Amino acid sequence: MSLATVMVCDDCAHEVSLSTLVNLCPRCGGLLEVQYDLQAAPAGLAQRARERRGEGMWRWRELLPLPDDATPVSLGEGDTPLLATPDLGRRLGLERLLLKNDGLMPTGSFKDRGFALAVSFAQHLGATSGFTYSSGNAGASFAAYCRRAGIDATVFVEDAANETKVAAITLYGAEVLRLEYDTSAQIFETLDELAREGYYSFVNFVNPIRHEAMKVYAYEICEQLDWEVPDVMVHPVGTGGGIWGAWKGFNELRELGLIDRVPRMVGVQAAVCAPLVDAFDNGRDHTIPTGDAGATMAQSIAGDTMIHDGRRVLRAIRDSGGRAVGVTEDEIAEGMLLAGLGAVAAEPSAAVSVAALLRGREEGWLEPDDTVVSVITATALKQPGALQAVAPRPSGVVAATAQAWKDTIRRETAHS
Ligand SMILES: [Zn+2]
Repeated sequence: MSLATVMVCDDCAHEVSLSTLVNLCPRCGGLLEVQYDLQAAPAGLAQRARERRGEGMWRWRELLPLPDDATPVSLGEGDTPLLATPDLGRRLGLERLLLKNDGLMPTGSFKDRGFALAVSFAQHLGATSGFTYSSGNAGASFAAYCRRAGIDATVFVEDAANETKVAAITLYGAEVLRLEYDTSAQIFETLDELAREGYYSFVNFVNPIRHEAMKVYAYEICEQLDWEVPDVMVHPVGTGGGIWGAWKGFNELRELGLIDRVPRMVGVQAAVCAPLVDAFDNGRDHTIPTGDAGATMAQSIAGDTMIHDGRRVLRAIRDSGGRAVGVTEDEIAEGMLLAGLGAVAAEPSAAVSVAALLRGREEGWLEPDDTVVSVITATALKQPGALQAVAPRPSGVVAATAQAWKDTIRRETAHS
């Protein structure tokens, strides 16, 4: 049933069996990527997926690397709304703007697809414990799925993780430790060293399974658009697992003959901490450490370095004809307010994908008739401090009397 065949190293093309719990290439330490035999896809795959509504992301199981005899560890992830937002679109000068609201996932962020798959995979191969590092959202998701799977979870959290996010992780029973470090590069070096010594981690890209689930974005979005392809997909970028997975998914759909083109992929970071944007603007194929992760309210995507130098993410963005965009703190706040006008509450790191639209119209890389999908990666409730700082204040205080209320509300129905 699963069309996944093998994992292949990005750097030396060494092949690794999908029946082993391995992070990096055992030969050279490169990133591993799952490959599929799409030629063997059954006819009517998309139609069957449509008929399996209710199974969430698992209705695309042929295109995921979970062995056929494994039972998915599920909390009801996937099939989040793709909301048409004409009012917001008009305000931004876009005729067709859609918000993919992953804030409605089981733990409130887009991380759930990836951990549902990676934890299911690890459980099937006998894992009883695991670890990841996180700025908060990934940790909560990992902890919840490990709880469901009966796996002992350890989460190393970054400075940026706010107390609400940390509490969500401990609520699910994970062991949480706050990290001491100077730069993100130090964390990534530690991860690579642990992987080389055989410690299995669930960190994006170092774990070769997690981002495969992000392909499901592409499947859901195209199905929700009746197999029309958006012109542009806008996604916040921390490690880049989301945008990379979506790009892979769109390419698979094209190879399967379900769509005939792919979107331009736009990756967004906070301007004060934007190694991806720096590399893109300077024509490099890799990121170098830059920026101050502590200077942005977009905590979930704040990092001065990217895993394995962001090579995959840069390749996806360039191959798609897209771009990397850095948005200012004021623009992020504006993005939160604009998402609110689309009836979606986005945490700052999610609102960057709305903030970038302002820039796209100003700079001319978004046309008025482009069909644009912006991904809302997490709910504003993840970062209550930022929500309270950005949202308008209440109008004032009023007595609980009919007269006082009548002075402020409008009568909608005539009294006869
Ligand atoms: Zn290799």
